[in-house]
Amino acid sequence: KSTTVPGLGASINISEEDEEEDMVDLAANSLLNKLIRQSLVESTHRVEVLQKDPSSPLYSVKTFEELRLKEELLKGIYAMGFNRPSKIQEMALPMMLAHPPQNLIAQSQSGTGKTAAFVLAMLSRVNASELFPQCLCLAPTYELALQTGRVVEQMGKFCIDVEVMYAVRGNRAPRGTDITKQIIIGTPGTVLDWCFKRKVIDLNKIRVFVLDEADVMIDTQGFSDQSIRIQRALQPECQMLLFSATFEDSVWQFAERIIPDPNVIKLRKEELTLNNIRQYYVLCDSRKDKYQALCNIYGGITIGQAIIFCQTRRNAKWLTVEMMQDGHQVSLLSGELTVDQRASIIQRFRDGKEKVLITTNVCARGIDVKQVTIVVNFDLPINQAGEPDYETYLHRIGRTGRFGKKGIAFNMIEVNKLPLLFKIQDHFNSKIKQLDPDDMDEIE
Ligand code: ADP
Repeated sequence: KSTTVPGLGASINISEEDEEEDMVDLAANSLLNKLIRQSLVESTHRVEVLQKDPSSPLYSVKTFEELRLKEELLKGIYAMGFNRPSKIQEMALPMMLAHPPQNLIAQSQSGTGKTAAFVLAMLSRVNASELFPQCLCLAPTYELALQTGRVVEQMGKFCIDVEVMYAVRGNRAPRGTDITKQIIIGTPGTVLDWCFKRKVIDLNKIRVFVLDEADVMIDTQGFSDQSIRIQRALQPECQMLLFSATFEDSVWQFAERIIPDPNVIKLRKEELTLNNIRQYYVLCDSRKDKYQALCNIYGGITIGQAIIFCQTRRNAKWLTVEMMQDGHQVSLLSGELTVDQRASIIQRFRDGKEKVLITTNVCARGIDVKQVTIVVNFDLPINQAGEPDYETYLHRIGRTGRFGKKGIAFNMIEVNKLPLLFKIQDHFNSKIKQLDPDDMDEIE
């Protein structure tokens, strides 16, 4: 019998090495979010601003016209379908475009318009008639650099003669000739190499230096130091900008080391809550038994779309095969897939092409699929110490209060895991009710 399941590929061998739990890959998650994002992320919070000079007036803009941009740049912005600046852009753009240039550290969750903001700043400061690198943007990976480059190309569509070059591994630096492109986007190692060893970028001539995805950057060995070495060689009047989706202490320390005299802009993330979620658990004896309970739930209520979480790739594959053999249309999202494959699976699920998405922890982190009403923890999230992983539990089933829909969560629990479930209940101080899978009336 030949059935294909998105994500499962042709063969469904379950090998021992699949036992591994997926590792968090910040850069991959960030890229995935970009690939599947279709619009701005809404926010209920206010933008916090810390000015380097608190006595100077604070400007914010409600329209792009107020920024007095070059005609061709404004055209590019409107061609992208942007009508007005996003919340963070209202504050960040006037600062970034001010004369003399000001340095900026900005933090807001992904999807709030940071990339569009610094691309606009680079394009507005570039001089198309000067044929050497003038703007330098550091990104954590080749793929992320490419995504930013795409935005430059789109927004700069009408800025003729402005060109982008990628300083990434595998892309050769020109030999013996100077780089004539004005905007360089690259990863720290390659940029460092092009600046100091191959000497094809003159850092003295850079006017805008952008460090994007600082949180992902410091997570990668060597990138902080390399970035700092590049920054040290810039002229003091070069404008320095740093962006990050999160702001733990480590990111903050790095930001302060690398960006002198910054203005700081922050937009708090929407918090996840369990308030809008009805939580249940079903007691089971075995994996097979869990599966049976799942089928009962599935048969018992009208399900829109569901995401089912497993703790290991192996379990996720097993469950996918079982459900498939029973004629369900499911897809599997797991860490061994390339980011593009993952993005396409998530996109199909978003488009409603599959009703059920089975996944391991990591893939679905931070990826919000708003229309999902049902989440199943086929396995409870547990950390290496054997304790409940509260944060992951919240990420799997939590919603943001104002924009999230109501949802239902089911936990499939083996008897010996029950204490862990109670710990979760206590931790969040929110009731998880026991469910008799033979009696679904309770739910609807
Ligand atoms: P971030 O860098 O914070 O993740 P992006 O700049 O990539 O955010 O923006 C997220 C999404 O919103 C993208 O699809 C982008 O095209 C869109 N976007 C950005 N700024 C605006 C705006 N002012 N109006 C409408 N859409 C915007």
